[in-house]
Amino acid sequence: MGILVPGAGVIGLTARPKAGVVLIGTGGTIAGRGASPVNTSAYDCSVLSIDDILADLPAAASIADISAEQLFQSGSENFGSAQLLQLGKRISSLLKRDDVDGVVVTHGTDTIDETAYFLHLTLKSAKPVVVVGAMRPPSALSSDGPLNLYNAIVVAASPLAHGKGTLVVANDEIHTARDVVKTSTFKQEAFRSPYGPLGYIVEGKPVFYRLPARPHTVESEWSIDEIDVLPEIGIVYAHGGMNDSMVRAMLDSGVKALIYAATGNGNVATSVVASLVDARARGIHVVRGSRTGGGMVIRNAAQPDDHYDWLVTDDQVPHKARILMMLALTGEHNARTLQNAFLTY
Ligand code: GLU
Repeated sequence: MGILVPGAGVIGLTARPKAGVVLIGTGGTIAGRGASPVNTSAYDCSVLSIDDILADLPAAASIADISAEQLFQSGSENFGSAQLLQLGKRISSLLKRDDVDGVVVTHGTDTIDETAYFLHLTLKSAKPVVVVGAMRPPSALSSDGPLNLYNAIVVAASPLAHGKGTLVVANDEIHTARDVVKTSTFKQEAFRSPYGPLGYIVEGKPVFYRLPARPHTVESEWSIDEIDVLPEIGIVYAHGGMNDSMVRAMLDSGVKALIYAATGNGNVATSVVASLVDARARGIHVVRGSRTGGGMVIRNAAQPDDHYDWLVTDDQVPHKARILMMLALTGEHNARTLQNAFLTY
């Protein structure tokens, strides 16, 4: 039983004095160490354990009752379907516990946007899950690691974050996993959402200004508890002077779908069209996206998608379109349900 607090979601009547938050360590720069404090970009990743990181953040104990566990210790560029499934299932089981109010995942920033989007679409809980990383290791001058982690715990412990899906916290900002993309190799201001963050963390308090408009977590059609295998999907990146060799190589690689990161608003060079038509003839789905990083690809505009039986990504960037397409292919599907997934989520 609970009470509904406006803007805060449901809070248990037998509220504990502090929220219970579980930290899951997976590696990345937030667990990195450089040879000197000026090593802000060249350092060893994934060397500090989640216990080491937490020990350097004594202030966190005042926010929540925190427990920590190490799931992986690796750069996120190494994460694939096995890691996504293992992480998602672990979080799902934690969120079912009454003593867990939120989960924080420390994660390399390279693929943080992919992992967060996967969790956003597959976790069946309104409890906050926050994925957090750092652009500078804790050993560096002005590391963003400790404050990012502190802020992530603040958000995970907050009733205000309930029902907002998986969030990525970095650089004082709270992003929805649906929109956020890593946009810099080194700047602390690396994470951007095309429509802006949902809110900020200021003086240790989360402040929300917007809500995710599209369905997620409890409203999404996928559940991590029911998925044990994810299909292989490849991305081909278009460029000027493009030929069909990359698409042709992918046709023999066993992928179930191919995201074509096209130029501009989803244009496909004449030299490539036949290979993508062949892909579809071989049962491989073709999804037209854009390499621009912003704006949508409109069905039947730059290419006759109905005629070719191709799909479009709507506004999703190619690497996150891949995550959505993996999920869309897990259950019963046809061209209409696959296209709807992009237009819905
Ligand atoms: N390559 C590492 C990773 O994604 C480091 C990048 C980072 O965490 O900022 O895990």
